[in-house]
Amino acid sequence: MSDLDRLITLMAERRFVVLTGAGISTPSGIPDYRDSEGVRRGRAPMMYQEFLSGAALRQRYWARAMLGWPKVRQAQANVAHQALADLQARGCIDGLITQNVDGLHDQAGSTEVVELHGNLYRVLCLDCGQRLARDEVQAVMVAENPYLAGVDATQAPDGDTLLDPHFEARFKVPVCPHCHGERLKPDVVFFGENVAVPTAERAMSLAHQAQGLLVVGSSLMAYSAFRLCRAVAERGQPVVAINLGKTRGDDLLTFKLPLPCDDCLPRVVAAARLRAL
Ligand SMILES: [Zn+2]
Repeated sequence: MSDLDRLITLMAERRFVVLTGAGISTPSGIPDYRDSEGVRRGRAPMMYQEFLSGAALRQRYWARAMLGWPKVRQAQANVAHQALADLQARGCIDGLITQNVDGLHDQAGSTEVVELHGNLYRVLCLDCGQRLARDEVQAVMVAENPYLAGVDATQAPDGDTLLDPHFEARFKVPVCPHCHGERLKPDVVFFGENVAVPTAERAMSLAHQAQGLLVVGSSLMAYSAFRLCRAVAERGQPVVAINLGKTRGDDLLTFKLPLPCDDCLPRVVAAARLRAL
């Protein structure tokens, strides 16, 4: 029996929860933070403490993010996202947790997705706590920064981009329409920031009920994801990963499929369809 057949059999017998990471979105053109060895590549992303530390760094963040947003906004859910939405609609999985902030599970039609690291489609005001739609904040930034029209910026992970410091200094940051504060932040968990407690609790409660965990496209380097695997494995339930490289949880895995998830997951759905006939 192939490992894919083993996974299909396990998922037919047990209520699995699925945990996804950046690898599921790379076929949609969203760059990954890490290479196949699980090591971060490229420029380090802005830390939460840096973002809070001053207006100049928030100016830098938003200038780059404004240029990176169209690429994130245009990304389309791929067959792997669609396969998970299909499995959820058929009642074949018990929950979906993602480390991604790209909103592609929503776009594919998944519901009640636990977004460990938030979602770039929302913006949070750190002063008054209101949430705004990113599209609206984007429209304001574009209107107030016409000098950046047509500027080409090199794409980096999570909608961040590399931009000449000279351009950043002129950038007008978006202001909260409710309190006029200048501390708007994308509603995502930055490096150096903790996952929101209710979100972490929802994810852990799914892990505590799961009869199995399927990890898709994650190196599990983030502790918030790794601890979910450990919680499932400690209860003696199977943990399977579809991941092209090393993961921090390799020792916990029942087995791993080193295959592209956009190849594997549609085959899991095809098997579920056949069973339903
Ligand atoms: Zn506000």
